Amino acid sequence: MKHLTDTHAHSVASTHAYSTIEEYFRAASDKGLQLFSITDHGPEMPDSPHPWHFGNMRVLPRLRYGVAMLRGIEANILASSARCLDVNNTLMSFMDFGIGSFHEPVFKPVSRKEHTKAMIAAMETGLIQILGHPGNPNYPINIEDVIRAARDNNVLIEINNSSFISSRLGSEPYCMQILETVQKLDWKVALSSDSHVHYTVGDVDVAFEKTKQIGFAEKNIITLNARRLLEFLAEHGKPVAQELSGWLDSVESAEITKF
Ligand SMILES: [Zn+2]
Ligand SMILES: [Zn+2]
Repeated sequence: MKHLTDTHAHSVASTHAYSTIEEYFRAASDKGLQLFSITDHGPEMPDSPHPWHFGNMRVLPRLRYGVAMLRGIEANILASSARCLDVNNTLMSFMDFGIGSFHEPVFKPVSRKEHTKAMIAAMETGLIQILGHPGNPNYPINIEDVIRAARDNNVLIEINNSSFISSRLGSEPYCMQILETVQKLDWKVALSSDSHVHYTVGDVDVAFEKTKQIGFAEKNIITLNARRLLEFLAEHGKPVAQELSGWLDSVESAEITKF
């Protein structure tokens, strides 16, 4: 079984990333992905694009070279209990989905209790659909509490491929504990590349291998294909699922005739 989507990638709009939308579309098509997403950093990160960047993503094509692109954002979880994320309803109404993550320049690590509380509060806003790289060793959390809250709020737990190979070093044991707890609680994950350059779009092989190692239920890998992911976004009332339904049917019937 091939993993056919990618829910986390940065473009040149975040200045620590290096590829354009066109480069991502081409690479995703070359790799046989059905769908990828551009998720640049929310406004509180030092290298974030202006908020207009997100609202204007509607000018980008949905489809190129047979591949669909989702319009996403990687929002920042904030320390303030009055404002849990650096996005609001207006901004999110333009987006197909949001990831919510801790980033050191925005949220100084404090304590397990505070990290857990902030993550849960962010999910309870209903503004995000994926919890980004929760295995970061700089932000210890009460894993079981976070995953129960994710399940209560229908938020996917991200298993971020770069956490195993290049970013947030030391994440692996935490990611494995998280994966095992998600399995125990029969909850759902999103596997993603967190690409900062188009060459790695769709590369989730290490994360995918880890799910196999622990016998993780494949039905709970929501990013496995575009249909699962779009059906999940429909549960959140995101119109993109309807918008791409004709495309999805044609992609799937093309797959069937191939075999
Ligand atoms: Zn991040
Ligand atoms: Zn990222």
